[in-house]
Amino acid sequence: MSPHPGVYLYIVSAALFILSLKWMNSPASARRGVFAGEAGMLIAVIATLLVNNIFNWEWIFAAFLIGTAIGIPIAYIMPMTAVPQRTAMSHACGALAAALVGTAEFYRANQLHEHLPVFVMVALVLETLLGFLTFTGSLMAMGKLQEVLPQRPITYRNQNAVNFILFAIAAGLGVWLIIDPTQTWIFPIFAGLSLLFGILLIIPIGGADMPTVIALLNSYAGLSACAMGFALGNNLLVVAGALDGSSGLILSIIMCKAMNRSFTNVLFGAFGQIQTSAAQAQQRNYRSASPEEAASILEAAGSVIIIPGYGLAVAQAQHKIRELYDNLTRRGVDVKFAIHPVAGRMPGHMNVLLAEADIPYDRLWEMDDINGEFPQCDVALVIGANDVTNPAARTDKNSPIYGMPILDVDKAHTVMVIKRSMSPGFAGIDNDLYYMDKTLMLFGDAKAFVSEILKELPAKAAA
Ligand code: NAP
Repeated sequence: MSPHPGVYLYIVSAALFILSLKWMNSPASARRGVFAGEAGMLIAVIATLLVNNIFNWEWIFAAFLIGTAIGIPIAYIMPMTAVPQRTAMSHACGALAAALVGTAEFYRANQLHEHLPVFVMVALVLETLLGFLTFTGSLMAMGKLQEVLPQRPITYRNQNAVNFILFAIAAGLGVWLIIDPTQTWIFPIFAGLSLLFGILLIIPIGGADMPTVIALLNSYAGLSACAMGFALGNNLLVVAGALDGSSGLILSIIMCKAMNRSFTNVLFGAFGQIQTSAAQAQQRNYRSASPEEAASILEAAGSVIIIPGYGLAVAQAQHKIRELYDNLTRRGVDVKFAIHPVAGRMPGHMNVLLAEADIPYDRLWEMDDINGEFPQCDVALVIGANDVTNPAARTDKNSPIYGMPILDVDKAHTVMVIKRSMSPGFAGIDNDLYYMDKTLMLFGDAKAFVSEILKELPAKAAA
């Protein structure tokens, strides 16, 4: 028997999902990757309706309209710096959807006295367990990032043991359901414990680690969708869920590596509390400079490396930086951008911002490629970056960021740092770079300070 034509659409859709992930690997093709993913999803929905001979599309169309009506305004209102919490919200919704589909399937089969085979029940239990815990876990992560919940790790005695016991009970009930799916009274308790476990899993993790945790929750949501594919016998869901699950896992591993953290340290380490007092930072000497002085130094430079960081995103200074890049390039200065893999607050944060300002991709250099260039570079201009430039990561074994690969900014001939104060960054620690003889602190908001420098640069050109 030849397969239903809709199955060919499934293959096209799966191919588009794979291409989408591949294209999202580079800023140059990322936009195409997003379109490919969207097209893949649209084709998947149409194929599912065709394969299952579903002709009453009203509900699906209504859901489509409601989702679009909510999604489009959110995309415009949400500032770039809030993307991690928005992503957490998406995972919460996706995971809840998977868990509810599993719940509906369980009760539907029971009501019709349909026998659910062991394999289907295993998939259904995994789907609902992961779906419910990811739902509440993602809401907690979103609350911490949005600061509606306390960012600090919430800890108590024997926390890991309590979590483990709770999880063991939920898993035990899941096994009972697999053995005897007719015991419907177990299901609400199983679902309730899964929801509770999601909360307890996330509250001991500091707000600072939430972006990594979100990547992990993304992976759980994907695995839940994959299990849903097995439970419903839908091959495309298996493929899409597996892609989502594995890419989320790979992303969290990359993020942990770039921060020199282990998975267990992120999940059980209570990282992200302020660790040095501001008083200690004030005791050390540093030099500061005005926009005019900074402009003279840049004008005299032959090569400049710009190091963007989280402060660039806060200040939304990307367009001003583009103007600075244009201005310096016109003067014959060689300008490059050094991109640290975890600069900012989400993977690819700096690439997205700089792409928004149309900075040519070939001017963006990855950490490993640019580090060899710093010793020959006249000026390293750090804009709103902090931890990713801290030499303590190389030298101070007691530093919480010891071992994290950093940009070797301290090796440049002159270093200039634009930030508003001597306050620490994400890791909450002082930065030795600021106290070096070759460093000049340029105090101010990144956008405002770069604007001031730009005002000085043309004046000098005319003179
Ligand atoms: P950072 O260490 O957090 O430092 C950002 C600096 O920007 C701050 O010191 C702040 O100093 C300055 N700043 C804030 N607003 C500013 C403004 N309007 N104008 C100018 N400066 C401003 O940032 P980073 O160097 O980009 O490092 C990223 C950190 O986040 C790393 O520790 C990384 O491990 C962590 N992280 C990243 C990800 C990711 O996926 N990218 C995920 C999880 C964790 P002032 O307050 O003095 O201005």
